[in-house]
Amino acid sequence: MTVIVYIALGSNLDDPAIHVRRACQELGALPQTCCLQYSCLYQSTPHGSSDQPDYINAVAELETELPPNELLSMLQALEQSHGRVRTGEHWGPRPLDLDILLYGDQQIDGPDLQIPHPYMAERAFVLYPLAELVSDLNIPGFGLLSELLQSCPAEGLEPLNDLRN
Ligand code: ADP
Ligand code: MG
Repeated sequence: MTVIVYIALGSNLDDPAIHVRRACQELGALPQTCCLQYSCLYQSTPHGSSDQPDYINAVAELETELPPNELLSMLQALEQSHGRVRTGEHWGPRPLDLDILLYGDQQIDGPDLQIPHPYMAERAFVLYPLAELVSDLNIPGFGLLSELLQSCPAEGLEPLNDLRN
């Protein structure tokens, strides 16, 4: 059974656009997975501690047969292959962050995996790139993407169209 999933990519260390672009290619090369499309790149001001560099963000749409936990493990392996060291600090600087936003229409509430991603509804750097890929979408537990966008200003978010591909 194949499922459509959306992955948020983010980086703010060591030439972030290169990390994000390379990760887009790597997502499509995961086993039992293909990448259907991805958004352009965006630059965003950091969340959490603000004395860190701006982020480059994007969202990818994948089609996969991987179960959610296997997909998460593979994303974490990819983060590590980009030199990410887990310090336990949430929202700290990182060469690559890969979050599963949506896994079909499933809702998962486990200790290591929550889907939809719990913060996606309030993050402009997730909602705007996602909206490039879908005309509208019901996000389980949160409602329509179009409505979430209306209450989430794109402040601090800048599309970098010229970096696409
Ligand atoms: P953050 O992305 O919030 O800055 P991390 O990338 O360090 O934080 O992830 C912390 C933990 O979040 C991971 O170890 C993972 O188990 C958990 N997690 C829960 N739900 C998700 C999800 N939907 N996608 C990715 N990681 C998730
Ligand atoms: Mg993460």
